Amino acid sequence: MIPISKPDISNLEKAAVMQVMDSGMIVMGPITGRFEQAFADYCGVKHAIAVSSGTSALHLALLAHNIKPGDEVITTAFTFAATVNAILFVGARPVFADLDEQTFNIRPADVEALITPRTKAILPVHLYGHLCDMDELLDISSRYRIPLIEDACQAVSASYKGKLAGSFGTSTFSFYATKNLMCGEGGMITTNDDEVADSCRLLRSHGMRRRYYHEMLGFNFRMTDMEAAIGLTQLNRLPEFNAKRAFNAAYLSAKIESVNTPQGKEGHVHAWHQYTVRINHGRSRDNAVQQLNEAGIGTGIFYPVPLHQQSHIRKVVGNIKLPRTEQMAEEVFSLPIHTQLTTDDLETIVQEVNKL
Ligand SMILES: *Cc1c(COP(=O)(O)O)cnc(C)c1O
Repeated sequence: MIPISKPDISNLEKAAVMQVMDSGMIVMGPITGRFEQAFADYCGVKHAIAVSSGTSALHLALLAHNIKPGDEVITTAFTFAATVNAILFVGARPVFADLDEQTFNIRPADVEALITPRTKAILPVHLYGHLCDMDELLDISSRYRIPLIEDACQAVSASYKGKLAGSFGTSTFSFYATKNLMCGEGGMITTNDDEVADSCRLLRSHGMRRRYYHEMLGFNFRMTDMEAAIGLTQLNRLPEFNAKRAFNAAYLSAKIESVNTPQGKEGHVHAWHQYTVRINHGRSRDNAVQQLNEAGIGTGIFYPVPLHQQSHIRKVVGNIKLPRTEQMAEEVFSLPIHTQLTTDDLETIVQEVNKL
């Protein structure tokens, strides 16, 4: 079986973890600090705050922007549940914009049409590693004075006109095992806003600036130095990972003929977190996926049920229709694109997909 994803762990990561274990500084120590600095430098921002997951990054980013019960946050229903669960956990209401079929990301025109006096944040998700239409979203954000909080959990190193994910507003990243840069579990918030950064740092560790003096209510969303050591090593290897993923994507796109291959937009560099195709001619996506799995090709469906149709979210938003989101949820599936595919693997994927 060619798996849909596979963490790329070399002897460098293993050695870095062993060094931390021997050092005695295990949680949020010097290596977490170095990872934060290196990540901030990489994205070209003032602050990076390491946390325990992408979910906790989203949760803290919303709290740090003072998103409260009664507020509305415009986002997408075509994402992992964590995006919307974070909105629900701060007591706010998710408002769903429909998609651009080319990138699977929210359409700025739909976002603007949904703005009300209660809209307190726009939370775009850069799905599969392709940034949203950032010029348009930044323009809406500045005209209405509504902050952008990006879910860049799938988009580390994606860029638009040379500007990297994480550098547009307040951004959140995940380092879960399947992500392009992984620590096992882990997350990061990036921002140029000193107050947002300070709030995130306090909320991450029980509101403490000085140990056992609590300025506010907070969580334990700390990162361990073992995770940070893996992350720091993976950050150094990221250019190598990106090149491999881009090569794999180009290979698949050049040879796959039986389904619609992903088309990035002008000015964008895709991070290729997922290589997501669309079935066409009214054929069944689920049959296609089954046929590929039987032929030894791992696949993923991100995501089979859009979030407005999940029971705990439907209770909040009611029965709404998002025609393009619902259509994409029926047509997409993702093929392996990870860094450890061989040319033989790529050729096998092409041959099996072209049999569909
Ligand atoms: C992975 C992911 C998250 C959540 O990250 P965790 O580290 O698993 O908590 C949130 N949003 C998106 C789009 C993701 O892909």
